[in-house]
Amino acid sequence: MLAQSSPTAPFASAVLAWYDKFGRKHLPWQQHKTLYKVWLSEVMLQQTQVATVIPYFERFISTFPNVMALANAPLDEVLHLWTGLGYYARARNLHKAAQTIRDKFHGEFPTTFDDVLGLTGIGRSTAGAILSSCLNAPYPILDGNVKRVLSRYFAVSGWPGEKKVENQLWILSEEVTPTERVADFNQAMMDLGAMVCTRSKPKCELCPLSFQCQACAENNWQAYPAKKPKKVLPVRQSYFLILSKNSKVYLEKRENSGIWGGLYCFPQFETQEALLAYLSSQHISLYQEWPSFRHTFSHFHLDIYPIYADMNMQWQDVDKTDWKKVQENAVKYESSVSSVAKYWYDPQATEQIGLATPVKNLLLQFEKMKLA
Ligand code: SF4
Repeated sequence: MLAQSSPTAPFASAVLAWYDKFGRKHLPWQQHKTLYKVWLSEVMLQQTQVATVIPYFERFISTFPNVMALANAPLDEVLHLWTGLGYYARARNLHKAAQTIRDKFHGEFPTTFDDVLGLTGIGRSTAGAILSSCLNAPYPILDGNVKRVLSRYFAVSGWPGEKKVENQLWILSEEVTPTERVADFNQAMMDLGAMVCTRSKPKCELCPLSFQCQACAENNWQAYPAKKPKKVLPVRQSYFLILSKNSKVYLEKRENSGIWGGLYCFPQFETQEALLAYLSSQHISLYQEWPSFRHTFSHFHLDIYPIYADMNMQWQDVDKTDWKKVQENAVKYESSVSSVAKYWYDPQATEQIGLATPVKNLLLQFEKMKLA
């Protein structure tokens, strides 16, 4: 909960006065606010910018206008609407939390801090943001934007991902957050971080906090917040099999947990040899190598090597410069990820399934090739 700041304390009053003039008040989730809409927007905004979120939010809210609609929807449909937004655990958690609200709270979004915090995928800052935004409840927040503003204003050293630094920032956030107009204040802090105290080149001359900001006084905003210690990401590789038959493509649904959990992907193999062995076991004799590319997750790089094959294609049908013959191969087939469902996907049909971004892009490439 909050310390003793009031809307007239210098920090809060400067921020609120700025908000009244320049803060964002016309975002889609700010119109006819409900706990459900604010929750959805807060989850979508984690690691993602407002401009990217808006069209996703609008599609989502028109398909699932309330928490019951979301709870009762198949997870595939939820992941389908999330396709391209990344961090898919957020969508799975939203769905799970909606079902908890349906089953435990009779479909009404809870209004106590502990109940909100207990929902899957909601941390302290998100719970505070939802309750303060909708109910003006006195909870501070600490998202990435607020961390940046506070780190600079108070010259807090250390990387905010470290528990010790994060705890220090929470104390500061509690201290500066007023007990009234909390909704406006929290929104103002997020807006300040996004619009003025930006990651690079903050506009200190436009900032309502410049009068006492330590980073501004020292002219060393670059030092705050300290950067995450550099770690070289490991590189993994995966061979994706884009297997077509009668213009459909073979996809497998991944298990619900882990990377791309619940999304549909191409069969994956750890080596090209294993993939070709699979083709050989299916009596598929031709394949085409597509350009490889890198997809980066937060904790590793994935180098993807797409290989295309068509079950009906014969050697006499193809341009020999692009195609290779599958050699007889004795290696046993083993897909490198476990999957729970397999089916032939028609890229022309608007099937409601979730696709990882590289899979979606490769399907577009497949479509273009078919049209060429
Ligand atoms: S004065 Fe500059 S560095 Fe300090 S909070 Fe404002 S924009 Fe950020």
